[in-house]
Amino acid sequence: MADCLFCKIVEGSVPSDRVAETEHVLAFRDINPAAPTHVLLIPKDHVADSAADLGPDHGSLLAELAGLAARIAAEERLERGWRLVTNVGAGAGQSVFHLHVHLLGGRPLGWPPG
Ligand code: 5GP
Ligand code: ZN
Repeated sequence: MADCLFCKIVEGSVPSDRVAETEHVLAFRDINPAAPTHVLLIPKDHVADSAADLGPDHGSLLAELAGLAARIAAEERLERGWRLVTNVGAGAGQSVFHLHVHLLGGRPLGWPPG
């Protein structure tokens, strides 16, 4: 999508601190980290604006994303606990409308989240 920030990060026209990637998923550090480890995992293709648009066709992509998240959590030594979260809609805090999952860790994570 021409006007999408995360599509531009995938292209490389907007710089990012890349952590890892697989064939269909890119992981990079959040510009405004909410925890010592705060990585965003996104599909390289703009397949969905948010998790509300996901369906059975996205199963293998989501498995690839979850597997990459677990690999990064191990590399970042988050054995004390980590969290995956995806915000859906502005009311839940979504600000970029290209599906993304936050990987948070490196500090105690309260529950329930705010
Ligand atoms: P959301 O609020 O949609 O759940 O998450 C979007 C995230 O993208 C926010 O945590 C925000 O800090 C991050 N973000 C916004 N603009 C940029 C950017 O240009 N580069 C990076 N690396 N992260 C960004
Ligand atoms: Zn996009």
